[in-house]
Amino acid sequence: MGERTRNFDWSTTSVGNPDTWPKSLQITVGIILSSRFPMFLWWGEEMIQFYNDAYRPSLGEDGKHPSALGQKGEECWPEIWHIIYPLIRQVQTTGEPTWSQDQLVPIYRNGRLEDVYWTFGYSAVHGEAGEVAGVLVICHETTETVLGRKRLEKSAANLRRMILQAPVAMCILVGYQHVIEVANQRMLELWGRQETDVIGKPVFDALPEARGQGLEDAMDKVYRTGETFEAREMPVSLMRNGVSEVVYQNFVYEPYWDNDGNLLGIIAITIDISEQVLAKKQLEQINVQLSIVNENFRNIILQAPVAMGLFRGENMVVEVINDNFLKLWDRDRSVVGKTVLEVLPELKEQPYPQILRDVFHSGETYYANQAKVFLKRNGRLEAGYYDFINQAFRNSDGQIVGVVVVAHEVTEQVLASKHLQTALNQSRLSKEAAALGTFDMDLQEGTMIWDARCRELFGISHQNDVTYAQDFVNGMHPDDRERITRIIDNCFIKSVSGGVYDVEYRTMGQEDGRERWVRAKGQVYFDENERPVRFIGSVLEITEQKNDELRKNDFIAMVSHELKTPLTTLTAVIQLLSGKISEPFVAGWLKTADKQVKKMAKLISGFLNLSRLEAGKIVLEKERFDIAELIQTVIEEQKVIIGNHEIVFNKPEPLFISADKEKIGSVISNFLSNADKYSPPQSLIIVNCVQDSGFVKVSVTDEGNGIKPADIKRLFERFYRAEGKSEQTFPGFGIGLFIASEIVQRHNGSISVQSEKGKGSVFTVSLPVNAKQ
Ligand code: ADP
Repeated sequence: MGERTRNFDWSTTSVGNPDTWPKSLQITVGIILSSRFPMFLWWGEEMIQFYNDAYRPSLGEDGKHPSALGQKGEECWPEIWHIIYPLIRQVQTTGEPTWSQDQLVPIYRNGRLEDVYWTFGYSAVHGEAGEVAGVLVICHETTETVLGRKRLEKSAANLRRMILQAPVAMCILVGYQHVIEVANQRMLELWGRQETDVIGKPVFDALPEARGQGLEDAMDKVYRTGETFEAREMPVSLMRNGVSEVVYQNFVYEPYWDNDGNLLGIIAITIDISEQVLAKKQLEQINVQLSIVNENFRNIILQAPVAMGLFRGENMVVEVINDNFLKLWDRDRSVVGKTVLEVLPELKEQPYPQILRDVFHSGETYYANQAKVFLKRNGRLEAGYYDFINQAFRNSDGQIVGVVVVAHEVTEQVLASKHLQTALNQSRLSKEAAALGTFDMDLQEGTMIWDARCRELFGISHQNDVTYAQDFVNGMHPDDRERITRIIDNCFIKSVSGGVYDVEYRTMGQEDGRERWVRAKGQVYFDENERPVRFIGSVLEITEQKNDELRKNDFIAMVSHELKTPLTTLTAVIQLLSGKISEPFVAGWLKTADKQVKKMAKLISGFLNLSRLEAGKIVLEKERFDIAELIQTVIEEQKVIIGNHEIVFNKPEPLFISADKEKIGSVISNFLSNADKYSPPQSLIIVNCVQDSGFVKVSVTDEGNGIKPADIKRLFERFYRAEGKSEQTFPGFGIGLFIASEIVQRHNGSISVQSEKGKGSVFTVSLPVNAKQ
C-alpha cells in the first residue's frame, strides 16, 4: 500500500500533492503504512481515505480496494455512512476518541453486502492550527470470533432447552467447582431444592449433605479426564424438604465440551429409582423372612388338623399350605407358588379375594361364620359353607408380608341345621294347621259346613249338619253375639267391608259348657251383582293370650276405677276453692290445676273405656238427641281444657239422631283434643256438622302438622301413635281413636281422615240419622 499511496495522484483530491501536506498528515500516513495493525484515515472536509495493507482484507476480494484509496468517505461507504458518519462527527466536534466492540457494520464486499463485525476506535488527528483535520480508525475485524461465539451461544441455549425439557433429571455443572449452571425441574425435585437456592452455586455448597458419598471424586474425575462416569442404584442421602432421605439413583456424568474442544464442565443425568429399589429390597426382605418363616411355623401350618395356609404378598401367592387345605380346595401341591386366583379362578366373582387383600392392607383379622363359598370341586362348581379366619402375617419388623388363613368346612352342619329348621317350621305350620278349624257357608243354599276342629271349638262332638242360627249364633257367648252378627251383616255388604272378616269372640261349648276365646278370619265372595254367595274362613283358638289380655284389662279397669274416686274429689275441691279465691295468682294456679285434673280424668276414662271395650262390656245406651247441641256442649267443655285455640263452630239447625249421647260426645271430644294437641297454638280449629243422605257428618279441621298416608291407615289401631319428633312431645297412648272407631262402628257409622303432612287434618265421623237399635 506504501507504493500505491506514493504513486497515487493526490493532486486530483482535496488533499493535494504530498509536499503540501501538513506535518501531522505526513506523520499519520507514515504510521499507518508502516503498521501491521489495520488502520484507516479520513482527512479533510471531504474525508479523503488512506489505509494500510493490514486493512485490505477487510475490504474483500472483489470490492472497494483499491478504489477506496484517495476516495471520498461518503462515496466509498454509502451502505454504512449512516452508521459511521455520526461517529466521525462526534470525534470531529468533541476531539474525544470512540471505542466500539464487536459492532456489526455490514459492508459491501465480495460482491454482496456482508455482515461484518468490528472492534474499532476513532481518534482525532489534529492539523496545523490544532483543529481536528482527520479521523484515524484503528480497527480489527471480529466477524469470525463473533459468529463463533454466537454459534456457541446458540448451541448452549439448545442444550439448556434440551435439559430443561428433559424427561429425566438433568443439570450442567461448570468449572472445577462444579457450579450449577442449569438444573431442570426434575433435578430440583430430586434434590428437594428451589431453583433460586442452587443456580450459580458450586454443587456441594448447594447440597452440602451430598458430600462425602463418593460423588465429588466421580465429578472431579470427569472434569479432569473428560471421561464419562456411570453409576447404577447408587444410594445418595439428601435433605429433601427438611428430611434426610436416601435416594437411589442411576446416573451418568457426561463431559461438557465447547466447540473448540475445551472441557467446560459436566452434564449430569439422573434417574430416581428409589421406589423400584425399595420395592425390590422389600420383596427380597419378604422372601428372606418367608424363607425362614421360621421352620416351626411352617410345620405348624403343615400339620394343622384344620385347613391352614400362608399366602404371600398382595397377590396372595400360596407360600405354605397343608393337605387339609388342598383337600378342601380339591387341588394338589402344584398350587404352591401360584396366586390364589390362578389356583381358584372361580373366586374371581366372589368377595373372598378382596377380603384377603383388605386383611393384607389393614392388618385387621377377618372372621367368617358359615360363609357360603363356591369352589370347583369334583369337576363342578359346588356351594359349601365355611368358618374361616384371615389373619395378617408380619415379618420381624412388624411389616405385613402375607395372610394366614385357617378354614373349617361346616357344610354338613349348616345343611343339617337348615333341614332341621325347615322341619321345625313345617311341624309348627302343621301344628297350627291342626289347631285351625274351618267353616264354609253357602249363602244361596243357606247351608254351613264345619270341620271337626271347628266343631270342637264350638264344643260339639256330633257329625250332624250345623246351622248359622242354631249352632253358630247360639254357640257364641251372649255378650259377643250382637257385635259379631252385626260385623257379619256388614261383611255381606261388599261396598261396606269388601267381604273381609277378622274378629275375636268367645264360644260357649254347647256340650261341655266351656268358654273359649277364638279368632276367626274369613272372606265373603260375591257374584257379579255384588250379592254374597259364599263365606269361607277359619277359626283359631287363642288360649292363653286372650286370658292374659283379660287379666291385664281387669287390672287396668280396677286401677282406673280406683283412680277415678280421688280424682273426682280433687275436681270438687278445686272447684270449691275457685269460687272462694279472688287472689289472681292463686286463681290462675287453680285454673291450671283444674285443667290438668280434667286431662287426667280423660286419660283414665280412656283406659276404662278400653278395658270395657275389650272385655266386650261396652253397651250402647241410645237416646234421641240434637247432635248440634251436643257438639256445642263438648266444645264448651273442651275449651276449659285446651283454650289455646280458637274453635269455630257454625251451629246448624237442630239435628236429631238416635245414638249413645255420651259416647258420641267422647268421640267428638277426642277429635277436638287431638286437634289441640297436634296443631300449633293460636291456630284455628273448625267444627262442622251437616246432614247428607241419611247421615249426619261431624268434622273437625285443624291446621296442624298433619299425618303421613302410611300412618293414616293405622291410626285406628289400638296403641298406634304416628312416629315423629312432633308426636313424641305430646302426651297420649294411642287409644282415643281406637275407642272412637269402635264406638262409631257399633253405631253402624264410619270415621274418615283426610290429612296432608304439614298442612292439617280433617277427622270426620258419619252416623246414620235413624240408627237401628
Ligand atoms: P293419642 O292419645 O296418642 O293422641 P289417638 O288414638 O287419639 O291417641 O291418636 C293416635 C295418633 O294419631 C296420635 O298419636 C297422633 O299421632 C295421630 N293423630 C290423631 N289426631 C291427629 C291430628 N288432628 N293431627 C295429627 N295427628 C293426629
